[in-house]
Amino acid sequence: MREVSVFGDAIAYFNEAADLLELDAGMRRILTHPSRQIIFSIPFQRDSGEFEVYTGYRVQYNFARGPAKGGIRYHPGVTLDEVTALAFWMTWKCAVVDLPFGGAKGGVTCDPSTLSSNELERITRRYAAELVEIVGPDKDVPAPDVNTTPQVMAWFMDTYSMHVRQNMPGVVTGKPLEIGGSRGRVEATGRGVTICALDEMAEMGLQPEEARIAIQGFGNVGRYAAKLFEERGCRIVAISDITGAYYNESGIFINAAIEHAAKVGTLEGFKGGEKMTNLELLTGPCDVLVPAALEKAFTPESAAKVQAKLIVEGANGPTTPEADRIFRERGIVVIPDIMANAGGVTVSYFEWAQDRMGFFWKEAEVNERLEDFLLTNLRQIRAIAKLRGATLRTAAYTLAIDRVVKALKLRGIYA
Ligand code: GLU
Repeated sequence: MREVSVFGDAIAYFNEAADLLELDAGMRRILTHPSRQIIFSIPFQRDSGEFEVYTGYRVQYNFARGPAKGGIRYHPGVTLDEVTALAFWMTWKCAVVDLPFGGAKGGVTCDPSTLSSNELERITRRYAAELVEIVGPDKDVPAPDVNTTPQVMAWFMDTYSMHVRQNMPGVVTGKPLEIGGSRGRVEATGRGVTICALDEMAEMGLQPEEARIAIQGFGNVGRYAAKLFEERGCRIVAISDITGAYYNESGIFINAAIEHAAKVGTLEGFKGGEKMTNLELLTGPCDVLVPAALEKAFTPESAAKVQAKLIVEGANGPTTPEADRIFRERGIVVIPDIMANAGGVTVSYFEWAQDRMGFFWKEAEVNERLEDFLLTNLRQIRAIAKLRGATLRTAAYTLAIDRVVKALKLRGIYA
């Protein structure tokens, strides 16, 4: 298989929309370069007493619309290239739902399943300490991503607050409720996936009770999306995690799967569905398919066999440009990541706003505002797609790029 950088693939999507917007070469040059990339060592002591060194990253891609915003990922596959692509996507994601933020992302190359809670805390505090000068509520606001939890955000917030000698909840979002988190933040990304999917299903004439849903990934995005689809009367026919996929034609009980995962740590041994491979899940019978794991879930080979009519990208970058071309040719509708999974960062925005006010909303208020932000912009994207004869992905990039370019032109380049 060809080894192209994740950032390279991300730029291919950007260029398609930039062509449609007839964006000039200078603007393209600016927008295809990250503002700042930082790499640093994270030395820490194992519980055994041994010293270890991991690598940490933070990429602040763009600040035109406001402070940089984006999660922190703890995963063995984290590289500068991946973090840059994810920061690039955050820029468009925040713009597409009209949040007053730029884009950023961070990560540590590590396998958290091999780390104790104390080790994780030491790594997080050292990671946060390295970033003290360049993060802050008006600079750059991290959040959870793959393998980072509200607890990790609490350690980050505490470390930062100790350094600046002031309580600073607004430096990160996705915190526990007790220390300035927002109601509804944990479920927000999954909720957003469901909101976008149901709106598109209505557009396609697919009733929730008729829809068979398959979800790849059972982390923070996949499991809450599954639960909310189920609440809306949809049938979840397949779920998966690193241990494989589980298929049940008559529907999986999501609470049973969540309970199993809480007890065992993974879906291994889950009896609510027939075991199959992740590839079989992606290409198996369903109407709506939600990739909610990592990048590059769809290759040209799997894309050619997908049976779903609608793909809703819960993960960031699950579709390679080649696979995307196949979906387009086959008439499969794709709600792109920057729109479909924007629910998380939207409630992060609400959390940041609530922290600044020191006044907290009821969950119903959070959910209502979330739906409004997502549907207003999804419908705008749909209108652009129709007008331009473009895919929803290109339309989403078009809307986002246009917003960032307007901000950039108003501010000008400081020299
Ligand atoms: N990590 C999430 C994302 O990829 C959330 C980012 C945030 O809330 O800042 O959208």
